[in-house]
Amino acid sequence: MKIAPGTVAAIAMEIMGKSADGTEKVFQKRDEQHPFYFLVGQTDMIPMLEDALLGLSTTDAFDVDVAMNQAYGPHRAEQMSDLPIDIFSLPDGSFDSAHVSPGKWLNLEDEQGHSHRAKVVSVGDATVRMDFNHPLAGYDLRCSGVVVDVRVATPDERAHGHVHGPGGVHHH
Ligand SMILES: [Zn+2]
Repeated sequence: MKIAPGTVAAIAMEIMGKSADGTEKVFQKRDEQHPFYFLVGQTDMIPMLEDALLGLSTTDAFDVDVAMNQAYGPHRAEQMSDLPIDIFSLPDGSFDSAHVSPGKWLNLEDEQGHSHRAKVVSVGDATVRMDFNHPLAGYDLRCSGVVVDVRVATPDERAHGHVHGPGGVHHH
């Protein structure tokens, strides 16, 4: 079976990022025993990567360069924010230093109850500097790997717009 809209593809993939200053970093590595599953045509998969995967079958390899502007765009200074330190307090009022330290990722909820992933940049006396940029922002990407499996999406998966595990078994 070929990867097409309405299928679920399992892919082993490594994403390499290269920033403007030449720094290279491996962001995501999923091997063939632990592939990445996605519902083709209904995910937040990078469109250019998804296009490159269309038509491939199990055991086909891929190697796709995705420029920054086709991926997650530049790293934006306005996506950095200084938040009051008291929102990071534990119930007893002390600062949550175990979870809030430079380099750690946190899920923060806004007034509407939406969750946003952000990285701790630095901790000051009154504020914590957070970076709300996507982790892949500011990088040209190279996505390479192999197709592990392709199957037809179940009706539930199509209705929900997401994958229900390797065999389409409902998980929630
Ligand atoms: Zn579901």
